[in-house]
Amino acid sequence: MKILVTGGAGYVGSHAVLALRARGADVVVLDNLRQGHAAAVPAGVRLIEGDIGDAALLDPLLGEGFDAVLHFAALSLVGESMQKPMLYLRANAAAGMVLIEACLRHQVGRFVLSSTANLFAGGDAPLDEAAAIDPGSPYGESKWMLERALTWAGRTRGLKSVALRYFNAAGADPDGRLGEDHDPETHLIPLAIDAALGRRPELAIFGTDYPTPDGTCIRDYVHVSDLAEAHVRALERLAAAPEGAALAYNLGTGHGHSVRAVLAAVGRVAGRAVPAQEAPRRAGDPAILVASAARFMAETGWAPRFGDLDTIVATAHAWRVAHPGGYGG
Ligand code: UDP
Repeated sequence: MKILVTGGAGYVGSHAVLALRARGADVVVLDNLRQGHAAAVPAGVRLIEGDIGDAALLDPLLGEGFDAVLHFAALSLVGESMQKPMLYLRANAAAGMVLIEACLRHQVGRFVLSSTANLFAGGDAPLDEAAAIDPGSPYGESKWMLERALTWAGRTRGLKSVALRYFNAAGADPDGRLGEDHDPETHLIPLAIDAALGRRPELAIFGTDYPTPDGTCIRDYVHVSDLAEAHVRALERLAAAPEGAALAYNLGTGHGHSVRAVLAAVGRVAGRAVPAQEAPRRAGDPAILVASAARFMAETGWAPRFGDLDTIVATAHAWRVAHPGGYGG
């Protein structure tokens, strides 16, 4: 199988490249390297530096003949998207549609979209695929627009697609080959680890008055290597799906952890408490976001291998300790 991975030099995309290579796939990465890292692309994988919205680049590339496209490349910060809505809609939705159109021109049979829990407003119970769509930000909206575009590409042109709506991607390759390196870093687990290691100032706990048992937000942290494996399963699922199928699944562990519970886990793993202070809520954060992945598990046999929070944190911690400067260091 020949597979194009957009955003394959980024956090989740690079872990998916490893999973595909382990299955013997011929992988090509397309990444503009604005957030991705060339060092995250394994030796022997072709890396093309460019944009998903560049039809002149996509035509000769997809003309080589690809069985599938895994589409990760995106701007992905919810908060930033509230500040720059049109940038997010253009960079993710409009450019993503250029990519989908190119896939149609070049008869790519299968498309897997990296989608998001930000499609949902949140709720007390684990969210399944019947939960109401109510994007919380222009970021979530941009992914929803791509899901809708894929539905129409399926209905009118037969493209088979899966949208994987993942909750909080976390952790690092258990073999230490890859990890999380964002600039700026905004995610809870790497910030908490760096605070425990004394590399950053105290962590700000965004909101302690949420309607949750300890007052802090609850999220479903799912290991990045489990997400990578989910993409392989999604491709297999599509192979058996009828022409034009546009599938969507929620992906998580089904277990939520509060911000304070994450800080406690980081403290246990690092052997040092995370210095933290209480701070106001961050705009756009729902109180509780937990996924029900029951449908995906039933239809693909997928199950999280690294579902335990301490295991997730331990893999992230090991990578941060080994790579203090991320890929650049
Ligand atoms: N969070 C926090 N302090 C930080 C970063 C994040 O309290 O410095 C909280 C955030 O409000 C959310 C949870 O941690 O409830 C996870 O946030 P993250 O940015 O990691 O992922 P998101 O849920 O936004 O995708």
